[in-house]
Amino acid sequence: MPRPPIPAHPYDVIVIGGGINGAAIARECACGGKRVLLLEQHDFGSGTSSRATRIIHGGLRYLEHGELALVRESLRERELLLRTKPSLVQPLRFTLAIPRHNNPFSLRSPLALRTGLAIYRAISGRRPDPAAAREDIASLERSLDSGQRWMLLDYEDAQCEFPERLIADWIIEAAAAGAIVRNHIEVLSVEVSNARATGVRTRDLLTGKESRFSATWIINATGPWADRVTAASNIATQRMIGGVRGSHIILPRFSGAPGSAVYTEAIDGRPFFVIPWNGQTLVGTTEVADNADPARTAPSSQEIDYLMRSFLRIFPNSGLSADDIIATYAGIRPLPYVGDSNANATTRKHFLHDHSDEGARGLISIIGGKLTTATSLAGECAKKIGLSSSGEPPAALVPQQPFSSAGAPLRFELTRAVHAVRHEFAVTLGDVLLRRLPVALSETWSESNMRDAAQQMGRTLSWSDLEIEKRIEDFVAEKDAFLIKPSGITLS
Ligand SMILES: Cc1cc2nc3c(=O)[nH]c(=O)nc-3n(C[C@H](O)[C@H](O)[C@H](O)COP(=O)(O)OP(=O)(O)OC[C@H]3O[C@@H](n4cnc5c(N)ncnc54)[C@H](O)[C@@H]3O)c2cc1C
Repeated sequence: MPRPPIPAHPYDVIVIGGGINGAAIARECACGGKRVLLLEQHDFGSGTSSRATRIIHGGLRYLEHGELALVRESLRERELLLRTKPSLVQPLRFTLAIPRHNNPFSLRSPLALRTGLAIYRAISGRRPDPAAAREDIASLERSLDSGQRWMLLDYEDAQCEFPERLIADWIIEAAAAGAIVRNHIEVLSVEVSNARATGVRTRDLLTGKESRFSATWIINATGPWADRVTAASNIATQRMIGGVRGSHIILPRFSGAPGSAVYTEAIDGRPFFVIPWNGQTLVGTTEVADNADPARTAPSSQEIDYLMRSFLRIFPNSGLSADDIIATYAGIRPLPYVGDSNANATTRKHFLHDHSDEGARGLISIIGGKLTTATSLAGECAKKIGLSSSGEPPAALVPQQPFSSAGAPLRFELTRAVHAVRHEFAVTLGDVLLRRLPVALSETWSESNMRDAAQQMGRTLSWSDLEIEKRIEDFVAEKDAFLIKPSGITLS
């Protein structure tokens, strides 16, 4: 389906990058009446935002670092998402399982943990249903390593199983409010003239066509790519991002798995999650400095070993081994660059970097941020460019569809797939199957499902046989680069 040309008129705001932050900013600015152009080099939500642990959380562990303001902001945002996107963001019970540290001065001593959790619950105003929490704790007690004494406590946070879909909703809402949104368009550079950012030079990665667009404000919301955009534009800025890779392994559900998510310590004492996700078990994560190409990031065999051994320490009787890993994936956290410091202690706060003093007035780079706080970040960004944000997102403009795997696994439906192409800016098979629906993230998705889906879509959308084969080939390459099946892992 040929895409309409992008109107060449000057824009108020060009947003580069269609991850959670770019989508939220485009939506906020478009709803505030600005003329917005959002450009994404690959597909909306295909970057870091689809590589996360997928929890919408206040950040219990930020309390350990004394970041109370960040906890408050995150909890407020969590409640907003639970209220405005109930089909995508749902409450999730957590059991905190910490090996007992008897040192009363330790930040993870029973006293410190109980106090921290009491503060967290008081700010958040949420606590899981006591009966369900008791059952979670009892079930976890049965499966825990008996050679270790554990402290088990309950609390509630939330989960967005498919941030890819949340982003798609926000993109659609931005477009409904008048934004022009385009994926598969790379911004080659930001153009600067007389110390002012004036526009962007772009390449359509589907057609090769190069273009220029001008705007009053340019927002560099490219997450871990942010320094690459300023470097390509010859903007003399200090390094902004200290990339930190985080990897996950996906395991099947196992007998004796608790109903809740588990927040515990990995074998080296780092925070570690075991989460029911999409009919599977999501286990993560790691923290490894990584400033290589974010598009090519992948878990190392050491990280897979670490995650699997950490999982088996808490669930020694799960019956699972490294051979059961369904897939792994990795993403780069776009944390603020702070030299060689400990990534775990680097703040998860976001920053808006104004490039005025570096000869590029009108250009703002987004540094850091979380899925959870994208709406408040967008509000701050809108304020910075002169829009007054109400702090409340616009009412949902797209019909809410159920996207939880709590019921039956997501199924391919031709009408929804075609709708995604016609009305939700999906272009490739990956855009449809990995992000709009997103059926290809489930354990049961097979090669024959993929072929069948491609054939059905091809018939309806008039793709030739050759085109169908090419689309399948591209899909397989994309899926294999994202959801990587490890082989030959022997645990150390
Ligand atoms: C392992 C891990 C676990 C995490 N877990 C959580 C969690 O559980 N909860 C939570 O709230 N947060 C979590 N986060 C943090 C959160 O996922 C990220 O901070 C957030 O997704 C960053 O979003 P973004 O929009 O800034 O970046 P991205 O999602 O990376 O989006 C940037 C986009 O810019 C595009 N782009 C780059 N260069 C160009 C260009 N030249 N032209 C056009 N487009 C371009 C990219 O293709 C990409 O889509 C986690 C992060 C990681 C890595």
